Amino acid sequence: MHNPLFDLSGRTALITGSSRGLGRAMAEGLAQAGAAVVLNGADATRLEAAAAALREAGHRVHTARFDVTDEAAILAAFADLDAQGIEIDILVNNAGIQFRRPMVELATADWRRVIETNLTSAFVLGREAAKRMIPRGHGKIVNIGSLTSEAARATVAPYTAAKGGIKMLTRSMTAEWAVHGIQANAVGPGYMLTEMNTALVENKEFNAWVIGRTPARRWGRPEELIGTVVFLASAASDYVNGQIIYVDGGMMGVL
Ligand code: NDP
Repeated sequence: MHNPLFDLSGRTALITGSSRGLGRAMAEGLAQAGAAVVLNGADATRLEAAAAALREAGHRVHTARFDVTDEAAILAAFADLDAQGIEIDILVNNAGIQFRRPMVELATADWRRVIETNLTSAFVLGREAAKRMIPRGHGKIVNIGSLTSEAARATVAPYTAAKGGIKMLTRSMTAEWAVHGIQANAVGPGYMLTEMNTALVENKEFNAWVIGRTPARRWGRPEELIGTVVFLASAASDYVNGQIIYVDGGMMGVL
């Protein structure tokens, strides 16, 4: 049965880092729920390949290629969307990178790169989207956190600091923008099968740790984020504000 609460027809969603991985799966899910999608990535070839695949499946797809750490490029992309009359109703701040290094060996430049890609980008994109959502009186922002929004692990300090920051940025967005009809929430994926984790899946010991510690006893699949992101992008979540929902096979509950 079709439920209009989850219908995204007439909405447009910008998903950062949607040329592959979790972002691409979420973009496809939002498109299946009826939204037009604006795909983003830094690499033009991967971005165009993802756009072609979604168009082939019959979805309405635009592309906005920019590096999420390049503020001037973000401003130009929003100006370009404005010029085309494309209004962003849903923003998914998903683009992110990982970098593993013990803190005593970590260069400040690498710390900054991870913070800027995973956290500062969500602020800048959120600000530019909200400036446009506020006069319209509605909008949905979904920030992608992680289990490290709550719990630290060795060798991923900047990632942990950024994802902890995502949780509090989501609450800050709520504190300032909920009054304007914007719902900002976050999704915290557990260990998911994407390229970011290829080395971990191939590492026998780590793979066994993930499977052993996750109550569901398996890694997550990218498409398993779709239900939660569609919920947070739709009218079904109009009174859900400032939350982080873990999609993690139960991992957060036992960490
Ligand atoms: P992938 O490495 O598979 O994909 C990353 C995506 O982000 C790509 O589309 C990439 O584009 C894009 N991207 C990276 N840097 C930039 C940049 N500077 N500017 C624009 N786009 C960029 O990652 P995942 O899909 O695994 O992760 C997506 C998000 O989910 C991240 O925020 C990650 O931290 C989070 N997450 C992932 C988990 C997992 O288990 N996989 C668990 C918890 C959270 P391009 O193709 O151009 O490089």
